[in-house]
Amino acid sequence: MDIEIYQRRNNSDYIEISQKNKVRGGSAELIMPVIMSESKIKEFLNKMHEDPLYKQILALPKNDLHCHLDGSLRLSTIMDLIRKQEPAYPIDESKISGIVIKDDMMFQKEKSLVEYLRAFDITSSVLQDCDSLERVAYELCEDASKENVRYMEIRFAPILHTNKGMSLEDVTTSVLKGMEKAEKTFDIVTGLIICGMRHYVPCGIADNLLKSLPYSTHKEASIYLAMQTAQHTVEMAKQNHHVVGFDLAGGEDGNPAKTYKKAFYYVTNGYVPITVHAGEAVGAESIEESVNYLHCKRIGHGTNLYKNKLLLTYFMNERIPMEICLSSNLQTCSDITRFEDHPFKYYLEHRIRTAICTDNRLVSNTTVTKELYIAAKVFNLDMDHIKLIIMHGFNAALYNSYYPESQNAYNSLRKLRNKVEKELNYPDVKTKVTDEYSKKYQK
Ligand SMILES: [Zn+2]
Repeated sequence: MDIEIYQRRNNSDYIEISQKNKVRGGSAELIMPVIMSESKIKEFLNKMHEDPLYKQILALPKNDLHCHLDGSLRLSTIMDLIRKQEPAYPIDESKISGIVIKDDMMFQKEKSLVEYLRAFDITSSVLQDCDSLERVAYELCEDASKENVRYMEIRFAPILHTNKGMSLEDVTTSVLKGMEKAEKTFDIVTGLIICGMRHYVPCGIADNLLKSLPYSTHKEASIYLAMQTAQHTVEMAKQNHHVVGFDLAGGEDGNPAKTYKKAFYYVTNGYVPITVHAGEAVGAESIEESVNYLHCKRIGHGTNLYKNKLLLTYFMNERIPMEICLSSNLQTCSDITRFEDHPFKYYLEHRIRTAICTDNRLVSNTTVTKELYIAAKVFNLDMDHIKLIIMHGFNAALYNSYYPESQNAYNSLRKLRNKVEKELNYPDVKTKVTDEYSKKYQK
């Protein structure tokens, strides 16, 4: 399949720099769209709330398939929890806000994942008891519902909330409680993805493990904890239909996916669907391992997929969905220095199911509406494309087939999907966009 040159705009907001740029090497060639200056990006983001396009997107029913609980809580809630829990750092809102909100990193030349992750030291420190976890899960659903997100998959790593002695079951049950309460109050359907961690993270359960087994290495502890989390996920999936998936999160570089293949084999045998953070900090080989060793149903980020044409074709043919997080990628990926560098539209035009997601609503200072708005502005997408992307998300939802009542949950998810399909007039939208791409690629 030929690679299409992105459509250009006759818009003075855009600076044309080249027709064809090879990006970051690799075996596949990526054609870049027209480049928008940094000041123009800042300008349109500052004024987005007044833009009719933003208001149109806000009104659409939406979904978010990739949203971290500990990266998506409210700043006001963090401040409130800090006051109640009296931790060992100063309670200064401007300082805390500077640490936990990292949207300015998108304009920095040197990206620092370490700096971005500092935010999570603060957020996870205030989420070490049942009430806090239930509260932030509830509030996250409320915030998403306010921007008309009708389906959301929340993800988090339970081991990171064990510093004060909570069990994995207590941790996950608290989050589920918040989600269930929110579903009764707001017009939203939710699912929970439980994350294993790729790298060793000092936390209650890990520290205890190494105290008991002092000759174990951090790597051995990580593998053991990933298996524990996998077993916990399957057990929780049997008890609650909201548990819809298992994920591998954390430091991708130096921690290959196949190291955790036994944990994922366990989850696969437990009939819990799998999604994996891959191809964000490491090349396409990381995505390849996630598909071939971890048997994932979706990929989180996948920014380096385009570098392996065979794998790209596999994604196209198998309709493997990708969870795209534009702002977050721009804030942390060193080889994405502008939104236009992102291969998102390349994937979209190659008919890969691309769902636009937030990743971390607080840390990246974003919402689903904002992410879709950025996609529309930067990649020149019309409303048909926006609706197509939204339906990609609804079609890529994970579901629990284990729990005895899961058939009811699956049916209500199907009902929601069909309702949204009608609201978006999806069959017509799909035909129009498919015809457009067919004509392009037949040239
Ligand atoms: Zn993520």
